[in-house]
Amino acid sequence: AAADHTPALVIGSGYGAAVTALRLGEAGIPTLVLEMGRLWDTPGPDGKVFCSTRAPDHRSMWFRTRTEAPLAQFLWLDVVNKDISPYPGVLDRVRFDGMSVYVGRGVGGGSLVNGGMAVTPQRAYFSEMLPTVDAGAMYDRYFPLARRMLGVNTVDPAWFESTEWYRFSRISRKHAANAGLRTVFVPNVYDFPYMQREAAGQAVRSALAGEVIYGNNHGKRSLDRTYLAAALGTGNVTVDTLHRARALRAQPDGTYVVTADRIDTAGRVVATREICCTRLFLGAGSLGSTELLLRARESGTLPDLSEHIGTGWGANGNVMTARANHLWDTVGAHQATMPVMGIDDWSNTANPVFAEIAPLPMGFEHWISLYLAITRNPERGTLTYHAGTDTMRLDWTPEQSKVSGDAARKLFDRINLRNATIYRYDLFGGNRPVADDFTYHPLGGCVLGRATDEYGRVRGAPGVYVTDGALVPGSIGVNPFLTITALAERNIERVLAEDYRR
Ligand code: FAD
Repeated sequence: AAADHTPALVIGSGYGAAVTALRLGEAGIPTLVLEMGRLWDTPGPDGKVFCSTRAPDHRSMWFRTRTEAPLAQFLWLDVVNKDISPYPGVLDRVRFDGMSVYVGRGVGGGSLVNGGMAVTPQRAYFSEMLPTVDAGAMYDRYFPLARRMLGVNTVDPAWFESTEWYRFSRISRKHAANAGLRTVFVPNVYDFPYMQREAAGQAVRSALAGEVIYGNNHGKRSLDRTYLAAALGTGNVTVDTLHRARALRAQPDGTYVVTADRIDTAGRVVATREICCTRLFLGAGSLGSTELLLRARESGTLPDLSEHIGTGWGANGNVMTARANHLWDTVGAHQATMPVMGIDDWSNTANPVFAEIAPLPMGFEHWISLYLAITRNPERGTLTYHAGTDTMRLDWTPEQSKVSGDAARKLFDRINLRNATIYRYDLFGGNRPVADDFTYHPLGGCVLGRATDEYGRVRGAPGVYVTDGALVPGSIGVNPFLTITALAERNIERVLAEDYRR
């Protein structure tokens, strides 16, 4: 059968992919988006699109028989995870030796499952990580553009101070202040006026009903409501779901062919398509885009790719940790799932840490303060492809994670000391006070200026581009999606201006 042909093919539908699809569509270029996950728009038998965090079902995770939540235990008991039936659920945990990577699956990628925190990195650190990118243009133009397009807003400070739903943040702020540490409000894409209506009993609860890592049924401006809705609105963009791109190859005429497996909701391959394209935009995320290019390089279908593909990977220094509060410092049975505050000690050159004050909405008082700390970890791992098993491996050691864990401990040891509090050891498995062996922020693998040129054009494959978190070299010091979005805006603007002229 003749291969399908599309002028532009985008793989994935997360931040980088969504920006790219919109701008291609606006420029009048017919664009096909392939997404391995499903479109999350149809309610299940319970009337909800997404399942709840407290009673997860098949919709929660990507083809699992049991959920694998980041907090595995409570009081050392395996009460958090639940048996489920395999299904293309919205959250995936990709396990490598020594490091697990959480990613979103579905139209909207990580935006479906993430905490919505839209944080602009410190300019000096941005320039240190991406020295060849014009920071002036980023901070004057592309970060503001990304914030506007993503619908970023901030919690009303007066409401924040009075609501029971953010008591957990205020307690952590107090304890940070006792240790001489600064806290900052963090913008988010969750619709805060909606959240206030939830609290007032005037709107269906989502962030106030524990919803986040398995999807939000209301309130969150995920990409399917922002960039991707606008992309479809151009009339030039089509999204094919449950399509997993597997192989890329170049044709003699300079076009590319992508082989994609279409799966059903049981995970069976029901069709294999060959799609020919003039230009190919990889937005499958740090792991997905890197894997496609590694496989193409190692199997010889794109033999001229750079040796840098697979290098420069990092976990953005992620560490999760939890403290046990005194009985009088209640954190509240009611906690909003959208974080709005962080401990900002990034300017402390001896031990830079930015720690998001994370909710733990269990529906009862537990006296736990939870944090997702972002540390400055200079360690980098390498992703490699193994043809025999058709798998990608991550070269990353526990010692490399320990750099992050130690930095987080320095900060929280200080907070514990000043408040006479201790860590919780029962939450992460293995009796540990910190978990530095999983990440929400995979970055790198196709680093800007190394595996690609300065605008994401893949070296050794003219007409192929990387658009997503794979471009960022392993660390950005804050939650990364705003940076990924702004960088994608910058890059596609240049590509449309230069590569599509004539
Ligand atoms: P992704 O968003 O990962 O999108 C990649 C898409 O490609 C996915 O939909 C995937 O299914 C698809 N795909 C992959 N491979 C293939 C293939 N072969 N064929 C077809 N499709 C494919 N960041 C923040 O800034 N703030 C936060 O508050 C925050 N909280 C987070 C909480 C959680 C639980 C998680 C998991 C992440 C969080 N993040 C947060 C991180 C953020 O979501 C990611 O950095 C971001 O989504 C990465 O964007 P991306 O464009 O690189 O790719």
